[in-house]
Amino acid sequence: MHKFATLRQLSTGLGNGDFSAVELATHYLALIASNQQINGFITVDEERTLAIAAKADTDRASGRATPLTGVPIAHKDIFCTQGMLTTCGSKMLHNFVAPYDATVVSALDQAGAVTLGKTNMDEFAMGSSNENSFFGAVTNPWHIEHVPGGSSGGSAAVVAAGLAPAATGTDTGGSIRQPAAFCGITGLKPTYGRVSRYGMIAFASSLDQGGPLTRDAEDSALLLSYMAGYDEKDSTSVQRQDQWLTDVPSAGIANLTEKLTIGLPTEYFIDVDAEYIDQVRQTFEQLGHKCVDVSLSHTDVAIAAYYVIAGAEASTNLSRYDGVRFGHRCEQPESLHDLYQRSRSEGLGAEVQRRILTGTYALSVGYFDAYYLKAQKIRRLIANDFMAAFTQADVILAPTTPAPAFRLNALNKDPVAMYQQDKFTVPVSLAGLPALSMPCGFAEGLPVGAQLIAPAFREDLLLGLTKQYQTETDWHLATPQTHAGTA
Ligand code: GLN
Repeated sequence: MHKFATLRQLSTGLGNGDFSAVELATHYLALIASNQQINGFITVDEERTLAIAAKADTDRASGRATPLTGVPIAHKDIFCTQGMLTTCGSKMLHNFVAPYDATVVSALDQAGAVTLGKTNMDEFAMGSSNENSFFGAVTNPWHIEHVPGGSSGGSAAVVAAGLAPAATGTDTGGSIRQPAAFCGITGLKPTYGRVSRYGMIAFASSLDQGGPLTRDAEDSALLLSYMAGYDEKDSTSVQRQDQWLTDVPSAGIANLTEKLTIGLPTEYFIDVDAEYIDQVRQTFEQLGHKCVDVSLSHTDVAIAAYYVIAGAEASTNLSRYDGVRFGHRCEQPESLHDLYQRSRSEGLGAEVQRRILTGTYALSVGYFDAYYLKAQKIRRLIANDFMAAFTQADVILAPTTPAPAFRLNALNKDPVAMYQQDKFTVPVSLAGLPALSMPCGFAEGLPVGAQLIAPAFREDLLLGLTKQYQTETDWHLATPQTHAGTA
């Protein structure tokens, strides 16, 4: 079995009887056990995984199979998994066993996917490097002295290292796209509302969105087709049926027949060395698409607005961790106030506390108008920029990140420099749009990603275009084993 197989290749192998789901799970569990250096998993429960795989084999034998039946995947540890630890990368939840499954988890379980384990992440999904995890930093499989990106760094790293064929992640301000770019894989942040947030531990509810991290666009579409869908348990879940998405499990991504106009936002190329995007542009032009310049003029204020809004929402969402109902509780509290104060001080890490403090401040009387309200106005201007750009272009092409994966410990003492890493991913999140990062080359020996952005609910354009690109090029096939500079 090929170490870097796609979900579809594994599905075909299972269908042909080349191996069983139990054999496949055993194979991946052995790889995971022998590769601890990446620190990509927080929880692996071999017995549980093998029991699910055995059931998948029975289901396949009796003809009750979807393309995912028996195929292993990993879940970011932000998704609640019933009866299994769900820590969100935090000491606060280090002993939390979820009493129910997230909708995404139950949908994939029902399709027969086999959960290999829960992946490491920045605490409460706050971070761009995966150095904020209570369970230790994750390292980049292409170079162990570099970060894998965050906050879905564990998910991206295990897929890049071949320890799982695909994984789920979440993106609030870039946490699927940025680690996908840093680890040389394909990461899709769907339109806000496409994927249910039920059972996905909340960070900033108006921004959080789950999505797939995979080896290529076809796998991304396949995983999305099971993750997406209306859920009455999430009030922001969108009720819609897209035929192209329904067709994916049986037919894959439909071939793009139209020639598109692709917009390159000038603001995303200021002070960045992104020659590799030029190459992507040339490939698209050779395929018959047209490239034009567009402008997204409020790009430079997106980071400021995002960190006010995300912090404000986090400060209210995280007030539930009070040491009373679940999670970490301090020893021998002397009063209710002492219980709150010490449980939260002990249970939450420095970055999470920083967000709660700034978020609470931005929402407080006297500062609300100056910060929160202002940030919301900027959010609207950014969404308007995209709407205007989409009158000139069908899709937008830009770098995913300003530079390739930085070194461990390079930025974690400087929160503002760390926040700047998100400057190309955050605007899309504020506008609620779908965006995908696809591997498109190497810089300084590390993978780099191109970001494609589409109008709301047009993930089909992102996937169709990426599929075309991945038919023409083979960046998505490079692995840390085949590439020089490997750790
Ligand atoms: N790096 C950003 C932050 O720390 C984005 C995180 C995310 O998308 N979850 O807020």
